Amino acid sequence: VFKAVVIDKTDSGQHVELKMVDDADLMDGDVAVRVSHSTLNYKDGLALTGKAPVVRRWPMIPGVDLVGTVESSSHPDFKLGDAVILNGWGLGETHLGAYAEKVRVKGDWLIPLPKGLAPHQAMAIGTAGYTAMLCLMALERYGLSPDRGPAIVTGAAGGVGSVAVALLAKAGWHVIASTGRPQEADYLKNLGAAEILDRSELSSPARPLNKERWAAGIDTVGSHTLANLLSMTKYAGAIAACGLAGGMDLPVTVAPFILRNVALLGVDSVMTPKPRRLEAWRRLVNELDLDKLASMTTSITLNQVLEAGRAIVEGKIRGRVVVTIT
Ligand code: NAP
Repeated sequence: VFKAVVIDKTDSGQHVELKMVDDADLMDGDVAVRVSHSTLNYKDGLALTGKAPVVRRWPMIPGVDLVGTVESSSHPDFKLGDAVILNGWGLGETHLGAYAEKVRVKGDWLIPLPKGLAPHQAMAIGTAGYTAMLCLMALERYGLSPDRGPAIVTGAAGGVGSVAVALLAKAGWHVIASTGRPQEADYLKNLGAAEILDRSELSSPARPLNKERWAAGIDTVGSHTLANLLSMTKYAGAIAACGLAGGMDLPVTVAPFILRNVALLGVDSVMTPKPRRLEAWRRLVNELDLDKLASMTTSITLNQVLEAGRAIVEGKIRGRVVVTIT
């Protein structure tokens, strides 16, 4: 048996409890991993609170990210004792997840823990940080560089946002950090933000086009915020969209696309193929300042995840949260 956070659904609603689970209940997979740390992402908050239909199987162990040590493996790439990371692939949604001392998963989902990164640092990065890197890579693949103008980050004090600010600044961008928490201005400037923009300036319905303000953006908010970002993007710029913290809708016109050559780049981390994951993690090790990572990270234990899950969907978590498991 092992300890896990379990979500179950009955007629009276969704219940979350920390309990002992039998090894026999683990799902199919060719690698068993002893989990040392997980983390808290917005999606984990949605699963824990039931605020959105993230969980697709009941009962479910939530947690979309893990780092741990291989306990047994019949996969050719992994052997007993290997340190591994897993981000996404349906973990905590369709496959029993990371808020547990043990998982059984497909070896194809795992990547080796990069050299130079401690397990807790890998989870301080987690899906949020790896997604921030995927967004930067999407902007670069599109051909954008800091000489083209500023880059905006929305939801900047959140998990994806904090890492995005640090990565863009390190890559030489003039970073405009949009936040609803003006008290976090110093925090964001320490991460590398050059300017702070109050998020209320981006939350009203967008005009089709507005004054051109940035060449690039990483958006974690969606809805009116993303529409405003597009309407203020410079000619031939692009916005990488990865989130919906402000809503899933996108009330936008085609004007930025057809009159300014603006591009909207979609970013999904869950099903990103392995080569791009490996590139993202390689770059994170090289480009993310570990002191800045530490400055944006707090730690909790398994019995605090429900409370923290409620806080993250309310926009109350700053930066990244590591869940220490064993
Ligand atoms: P997070 O830490 O909660 O960050 C979200 C931030 O958005 C909040 O900290 C807040 O920042 C801002 N925000 C919250 N509610 C808002 C609202 N109603 N209107 C405007 N801004 C609001 O969450 P996260 O883990 O970084 O995830 C951020 C988003 O990215 C989520 O929607 C998540 O689902 C998505 N995501 C997607 C992928 C993918 O693969 N596509 C991967 C990871 C995350 P301020 O207080 O600074 O304004």
